[in-house]
Amino acid sequence: VTLGSPPRQARLGPNARVWLLSASLAAVAVALVFSTRLEGPLLRLNTAAVWIAVTVAFAASEIWVVHVQFRREAHTISLSEIPLTVGLFFIAPWALVLAQACGVAAALALHRRQSPVKLGFNLAQMALSTAFAVVVFHAAIGRADPLGPRAWLVAGTATACASLVGIISIRAAISVTEGRIRPDKLLEVTLFSLVGTFVNTSLALVGVVTIYRDARAGVLLLLPATALYIAYQAYTRERQKTERMEFLYNTGRTLAGTGSADNGIVQLLEGAVEMFRAEVAEVWVRTAPGDSPGSRTRVRSGQLAEVEAIGDGEYSEGLLEEIMSTDRGAIVDLRQSPPGARRFLERHGLRDAVLTSLKAENRVVGAILVGNRLGNVSGFTPDHLNLLETVATQVGAAVENARLERVLQHQAFHDALTNLPNRALLNERTETALARPGSGVAMLLVDLDDFKVINDTMGHSVGDQLLVAVAARLERAVRDSDTPARVGGDEFAVLVENMSADGDATAAAHRVIEALRQPFDLAGQKVAVSASIGISTNIGGLLDPGALMLQADVAMYAAKAADRGGYRVFEPSMQDEVAERHALRDDLRRALERGELVNHYQPLLALEGHAVLGMEALVRWRHPDRGLIAPGFFIRLAEESGLIVQLGRWVLREACRQLAEWQRLRPAWPLGVSVNLSAVQLRQDGFVDEVVGILKATGLDARSLTLEITESTFMDDTRTAIARLRELRGLGIRLELDDFGTGFSSLSLLRDLPLDGLKIDKSFVDGIRTESDRPVFLQAIVRMAEALDLEMVGEGVEEAHQAEALRAMGVQRGQGYLFSRPLPAEDMGAYLRRSVSLADAEDPAVVRMPARRRSD
Ligand code: C2E
Ligand code: CA
Ligand code: CA
Repeated sequence: VTLGSPPRQARLGPNARVWLLSASLAAVAVALVFSTRLEGPLLRLNTAAVWIAVTVAFAASEIWVVHVQFRREAHTISLSEIPLTVGLFFIAPWALVLAQACGVAAALALHRRQSPVKLGFNLAQMALSTAFAVVVFHAAIGRADPLGPRAWLVAGTATACASLVGIISIRAAISVTEGRIRPDKLLEVTLFSLVGTFVNTSLALVGVVTIYRDARAGVLLLLPATALYIAYQAYTRERQKTERMEFLYNTGRTLAGTGSADNGIVQLLEGAVEMFRAEVAEVWVRTAPGDSPGSRTRVRSGQLAEVEAIGDGEYSEGLLEEIMSTDRGAIVDLRQSPPGARRFLERHGLRDAVLTSLKAENRVVGAILVGNRLGNVSGFTPDHLNLLETVATQVGAAVENARLERVLQHQAFHDALTNLPNRALLNERTETALARPGSGVAMLLVDLDDFKVINDTMGHSVGDQLLVAVAARLERAVRDSDTPARVGGDEFAVLVENMSADGDATAAAHRVIEALRQPFDLAGQKVAVSASIGISTNIGGLLDPGALMLQADVAMYAAKAADRGGYRVFEPSMQDEVAERHALRDDLRRALERGELVNHYQPLLALEGHAVLGMEALVRWRHPDRGLIAPGFFIRLAEESGLIVQLGRWVLREACRQLAEWQRLRPAWPLGVSVNLSAVQLRQDGFVDEVVGILKATGLDARSLTLEITESTFMDDTRTAIARLRELRGLGIRLELDDFGTGFSSLSLLRDLPLDGLKIDKSFVDGIRTESDRPVFLQAIVRMAEALDLEMVGEGVEEAHQAEALRAMGVQRGQGYLFSRPLPAEDMGAYLRRSVSLADAEDPAVVRMPARRRSD
C-alpha cells in the first residue's frame, strides 16, 4: 500500500512535518530490526541469489501494482507480500529490510518519479511494516517446524501486521499534512488490504515450501503467480469498464431526464469528478447566434462551485482555442506540458487536466475539462481522454438541444420579424390580466393604413423594415407594464393593464399615434405612416380575451371608416360588423346543404426531380353573391360554430373520391392526397370510424391519405388527441404537422406525437433570400425533423431559389405557387393527365410536373 490521496497542502509547508514523521518511522524500524538479535535467516539456501531475487521482486511489485478503484477511493494492491514472505524465511532481518529499501527505492524513484518527500515517507513506512513483520514472525515461530502449518499461520499474521502498520502510517501522514483525521472508509480499506495480503502470503508460502524442497520448482510457481497477477488486472479492467459504462449511461439519462440542460450539466460534472477521480470538472458553453451569453460551470470536490457568464474573449486563450479549433482533446500537466498549457493550468488553479471540445452536429459549442486527478499513482491517460470525448458528445448534444428549446420557446411566443410578443403571448397575458379582480384592462388594436401600398410599391424588404421600425417605436411609446404585440401582417396590439380610469386607454392611443407621427426613413426615402386604432376595455363587465379582441377589431374598423389615423373606442352600436359574421354563419350552414363548397387541389412535388407526389385539398366556398371565398374567411367561423365537423367530413370524402378517380389514370403511380384536419373534428367521438367508412366507400387505400394537423390539436386534451392519431396512423394513414414552427412550444411533445412529417410554414420559406441562404431557425427545424426522422414539406414556395435552398438542406417535398397554385378539380385532372403523357413520352418511371401554366 502506498500513500494515496496527495493532499494539496503537502506542497505548501507541512513537508517538514512529513519528513519528521518519516524519520521517526525509520528510527523505530531500525530499532525493531536490531531488537530481534538475529544474525542469520531461518532457513538457508543460496543467500546471495535469494537476496537479489527478493530485491528485484520488491521493485517489480511496486512497478506492477494493481489499482482497484471503488468510486473515489483507490485501493492499490501490491504483490509485495510475496517477496516479504520469502524473505522472512530465507533472509536475515536486516538484509530483508535492506532488500526492500533498495528494490522499492529504485522503483519509486525511477519508475514512478516520486518526489523526495513521498519517496522518503514510503520507504520509511515500508521499512517499519517489514520490521514489524520480522519481529512478529521471529517471536511467534519459536521452535516450530519452519515448514509446518504453525509457521504458515505465523507468516500470515506477520504479513497482516505489516499491512496494518502500513495503513496506519499512511493515515498518520494524511492527518499530518491535512491537519485532521479522516476516519472514513478506514474499515473498508483495511479489510480490502487484508484479503489481498492473505492471498499473496498463501501463494508465497507454497513457494517457500516448494523451493526449499527443490529450488527448481520455483519455475513451476511462476505460472500461477502470473495468472494471479493477470486475474487482478482483468478484474480491475472489468470493474473500470462497468463503472464507465454505468457512468455514460447515467450521464445520458441525467441529460435527458432533467428539464433543463443546465441542471443536467451540473449533475453530470458531479458524476465526472467521481468517475475520473478528480477534484475539478468544468464546462464552457459558447454563445450561439441569437442566444444567451456563454457560460462557465465549475464543480469542485463534488459540489457546484461557480457558474459565470463569459464573453467570447475567454476562448481566445491559447489552449482552449486550440482545443476548440483543432477538434482534438489534450492531456496536460504542470510538469511536462508546453508553456501555453502550463499558463492555462495556472490561471485555472489546476495541476493537471484532460480536456476536449463539445461538439453538436458539426459545430463546436464549447469545451469540457476534468482536472486535478486525485491519487498520485498515475495522472490522466488516453483512456480518460476517450471517455471524456464520449461524455463531450453527449453534453454537446444536450447544450444544443437546450439552445434549440430556448429558441423555439421564444419563437413560439414572439414574432420572428419584429421580435415583439405574438398573438399567443398576448392572449396569455390578456387572460392573466382579466383574471385579476378589479383591474382595468384595455386592448388597443393598431392597424397601419396603406401598408399594402408601401409593400407593393417599395417591395417586401422595405415593408419588413417598416414593420420592424414601427415595432421599435411602439415598444418605446408604451409603459413598461403594457404589452405591445404583433398580431397580424400589419396589425399590432397593445395590452394596457392596471388602468385606473378609462382615460388611460385613450392616453395610450395618443402616445402610439404620436410615436408614429415622425416619417420613417426607408431605403433613403421619408415615408409617412398612419395607423387606425380600435380600443376595447373590460370596464362595465367581464370579458374574455377573445371578446376583448373582437370588440377592438370592430372599433378599429370603425376608426378606419371614420378618419384614418385616429382611434375609436368600442361601442355596442358598432356591433353591425359582428352581426354580419352571424349572418355569414347562417349562410355557411345553408352552403353545406346546397353544395356550395368545392375542393381545389394544390400539387405536391418532390424537390429533387420534381416528380408529382400528390396534392393538398383546399376547400373554397362558391358564394352565390360574393363569389369564391377563401377558407381564411370561414374556417374559423365554422370551427367556432361546430359546422366544421360536417364541412370537414364533406372535404375528406370528396378528396378521397377524387383521388381514387385520379389514381385510375395510372395505377402504378403512388399518388396521395393531403386533407386538413381541424382540432374540433378530431375531438368528435367516432371520428376514426368515420374515416374508415369514407376509405371503404371510396375504395381508397389508407396509405394514399395524409391528414394535416396543427399544434392547436393538442392544446386542450393532448392525451386523447394523441391516442386518436395513433389509431389513425395504425390504419396506415400518414400524419403531418401543418404550419410547423409558428406556434408549438415543446420539443418533448413533438417527440411523443405519432407523425410522419412536418410542413415547414411559409414564413420560414419566405425567409430564404438567396439560394445559399440558410436562416438559423429554418436550419434548426430541419435538423430537428431529421433527428426525429420526419419527412419535410416546404410550404408556400414561390421562388426557384427557395426550392433549391430547401432541397439542398434536405427537405424532400415542396408545395407553392412556384409549382402551381391550388387548382379546381378539372384543372388538376388536366394537370395530372399532362404529367402522365409527359412521362409516357420521356421517362415512364417518373411522373414529373408539366411545364408551368398560370391558372386559378
Ligand atoms: P394551409 O393548410 O397552410 O394551406 C396552404 C395555404 O397556403 C393555402 O391557402 C394555399 O393556397 C396557400 N399557398 C400555397 N402555396 C402558396 C404560395 O406559394 N404563396 C402563397 N402566398 N400562398 C400559398 P388557402 O387555400 O387560402 O387555405 C388557407 C388555410 O385554410 C389552410 O392553410 C388551412 O389551414 C385552411 N383550410 C383550407 N382547407 C381546409 C379544410 O378543408 N379543412 C380545414 N380544417 N382547414 C382548411
Ligand atoms: Ca395544410
Ligand atoms: Ca400550412
